[in-house]
Amino acid sequence: MPIVILRLPNVKQKTETRPQECPYCSGETFQRWGKVRKPVRDNRYRSVRVYRYRCCSCQRTFRHYPEGVDRADQTQRLRKLVALGWVLGMSLRGVMTFVSAFGVRVSHMTVWRDLQEQAKMLEKRRRWQPVRVLGVDGVYPLGKGRKRPVLIAVDLGTGQPVAIGKVDESNPQAVKRWLEPLVKHLGVSVIVTDDLASFRVVAEKLEVEHQVCQFHVRRWVGRTLYELRETVPKEWLWVLDEVGVLLSELPPEGSHRLFELWKQIPERQVGQSGERPPLVRLRYLLIRLSEHWENYRVFAWHNDVPWTNNGTEQAIGRMKIRSRTVRGYKSWQGMWAAFYLTGSGVVW
Ligand SMILES: [Zn+2]
Repeated sequence: MPIVILRLPNVKQKTETRPQECPYCSGETFQRWGKVRKPVRDNRYRSVRVYRYRCCSCQRTFRHYPEGVDRADQTQRLRKLVALGWVLGMSLRGVMTFVSAFGVRVSHMTVWRDLQEQAKMLEKRRRWQPVRVLGVDGVYPLGKGRKRPVLIAVDLGTGQPVAIGKVDESNPQAVKRWLEPLVKHLGVSVIVTDDLASFRVVAEKLEVEHQVCQFHVRRWVGRTLYELRETVPKEWLWVLDEVGVLLSELPPEGSHRLFELWKQIPERQVGQSGERPPLVRLRYLLIRLSEHWENYRVFAWHNDVPWTNNGTEQAIGRMKIRSRTVRGYKSWQGMWAAFYLTGSGVVW
């Protein structure tokens, strides 16, 4: 269940403090230089009092705004309220109606600009927060008809969105180009992804540890075992059982054991009409699991590494909740904003 914490900025009607330093020269002594009444758009105030000051060092004058107010005519609180309404599923026009309940009129373009501004703020903040364990996953919700691939990255320590890009997850070069700066700047040491070959290649190149989401592995292995159960000769059914047990317990010696099983199954099978015989499939399954075993168990020696990519999928789920209400994302900008705004659990 998503948790919504409302932390709206405070807005004061007049300044209670004197300026700390001159915005032009960093001077620290000022003269009061008159006051003005600034009309604002806010859920509570219609105007605020702004004092002007003159810097004693450089003689320039400037406005000293009260808390929650800046050069914009909407207060910081109203801008956040607007973004919040959108995150909670309202359309741009719905948000206009929502704030009109507070006696404030904004255009839908203003709503749109507010969203972009809030999302940009969050994106910028992410760039300075180190991330140790990064969840990466592909989403395909952009555009109608020909859907364009999008990749997202989530901090699995905090569940916060980190980055979103127009990247095809099956293309290792593209994934590497996108992930490399994140890994370097944020200090990522583990990535968690699903079982796609491209992620394996990239993790190796970037020298990060790689946990493969066990939900995905169990899904495809479960399906394969189910199919093999119908087709492999009866005397090999015990191997399928043992693979199932290994996968549910993930013991450290699993790789070795799978390799042993692989060696026991006869290599050459008489294939019928080019079809891959069941025992060949089984051998392939065994060697693949054996080779990737270490990537299934990274979580076993790192307390902060989850064994699934659930945290990333939750972020995608929150984006989808938002997108359903407006029948999918029509633009990259909308999707980008939704990723940062909804993905933050509305705490920003
Ligand atoms: Zn100055």
